[in-house]
Amino acid sequence: MSGSAAVIVGAGQTGAHAAMALREAGWAGSIVLVGDEAHAPYDRPPLSKAALTAETMPGPVHFHDPAKVAAREIELRPGVRVEGIDRGAGRVALGDGSWLAYDRLLLATGGRARRLAVPGGERVLTLRTLEDAAAIRARLVPGARVVCIGAGVIGLEIASSARARGAEVMVVEAGPGCMGRSLTPEFAGWIQRLHERAGVRFHFGAAIVEVSAEGVVCADAVHPADVVIAGIGITRNSGLAEAAGLAVENGIVVDARGATEDPAIFAAGDVAAFWHPFYGRRLRLEAWRHAQNHGIAVGRSMAGDATPYADIPWFWTDQHGVNLQLAGLPDLAVATVLRGSMEDTSLAAFHLDAAGCVVAATGVNAPREVRAAQAMIPLRCPADAAALADPASNLQRVVAAMRQG
Ligand code: FAD
Ligand code: NAP
Repeated sequence: MSGSAAVIVGAGQTGAHAAMALREAGWAGSIVLVGDEAHAPYDRPPLSKAALTAETMPGPVHFHDPAKVAAREIELRPGVRVEGIDRGAGRVALGDGSWLAYDRLLLATGGRARRLAVPGGERVLTLRTLEDAAAIRARLVPGARVVCIGAGVIGLEIASSARARGAEVMVVEAGPGCMGRSLTPEFAGWIQRLHERAGVRFHFGAAIVEVSAEGVVCADAVHPADVVIAGIGITRNSGLAEAAGLAVENGIVVDARGATEDPAIFAAGDVAAFWHPFYGRRLRLEAWRHAQNHGIAVGRSMAGDATPYADIPWFWTDQHGVNLQLAGLPDLAVATVLRGSMEDTSLAAFHLDAAGCVVAATGVNAPREVRAAQAMIPLRCPADAAALADPASNLQRVVAAMRQG
């Protein structure tokens, strides 16, 4: 092993994949993966789904077999917090007062659940870790009155899981509808109706004044609750980078290879605001596939690979037995072509820009259609709208025709 040292801060999904990719790209020095959670890196999506609904709580899903991690000579240090970065000396300060030297440093510190800043906010549970999931699970008993604050992905996935456990659910949201940051208005309405049919109630435009022993007190209503859970977004763990004088603007600023302005320091995953060469601007994404692929790309980049990362954004959510996927950036769209009807149990929508190019797609139980859209988006050429709308048309052929121009 050469004398070079790589340190990865954050043993989440991004850090785990980066460590493995760094080694597989030929890094011959040491690799130390430092994480402040007590566990080996584990998958978070089950925490709002199976961990809340399964008959018994399933164990954590790890990304890599421990034997494989050991064989790659990756040293995992769980339960250890990195407290600071000394860029001049090329070392990080650990919580136990010791230092760890680096030649390459990756910040894969993700985010933590944002806390509700009202009187009584300390009564409110949040969901980010295995321990959070266990605490919530214990409270989701039949008949329990559950109030979810926030109608984003966490709030709605918990609402779905809570209903599956027989709890009564009220979702209290500041904005005017569901998943306002990610879904187009028609799908925001669609998902709201899905929840309402499953017995979930909503209070939109809510201004929460207090969380008391009785429940959630809003300016215009009180929602009685046995348990209150907030899914009101994350706070990025970018404090280490800020304290070290690195640029942070809605995330740690990195280029298309994951490098900060300090060539020895990289950032990836939920915490990174990265330059996306296809969109020609910086993005920060909070999604499972991005955590995996950005981790892999930046791990390789730390080993010297100069390939820019240009994945098309994609995420999925499971609610009330429905799988919804979204690819691309729907904000860029001016029109939508529906493939199927909004009443169907399986449908897709292709979102087009002013030139008729597919810029995003939403699929309800329609993974193939969303996959086809992911092939169309990077082509940036007008699509045959009639073919997109016709459920009988072969989307592979549509993609092939687009490729031929
Ligand atoms: P994180 O997972 O936040 O990991 C960062 C790690 O770094 C944490 O362990 C943190 O404790 C540690 N850390 C931070 N600071 C320090 C420090 N100073 N020293 C040491 N360690 C530190 N995405 C989807 O696309 N679909 C889904 O269905 C989906 N479901 C989800 C369900 C839940 C409940 C959650 C929470 C997320 C879900 N996601 C989903 C999003 C996806 O899981 C995240 O985008 C992904 O986990 C981000 O990975 P990360 O490694 O970048 O950050
Ligand atoms: P989110 O998607 O950002 O949604 C938060 C929601 O809460 C938004 O609708 C927000 O409205 C609302 N809100 C904010 N402050 C509020 C307040 N004071 N009162 C009431 N509502 C308020 O974040 P999240 O759902 O909490 O998810 C957290 C993280 O977990 C994210 O990184 C997410 O990607 C990840 N996650 C992903 C999945 C998935 O992809 N399937 C599932 C679970 C978790 P405004 O937009 O108006 O602020």
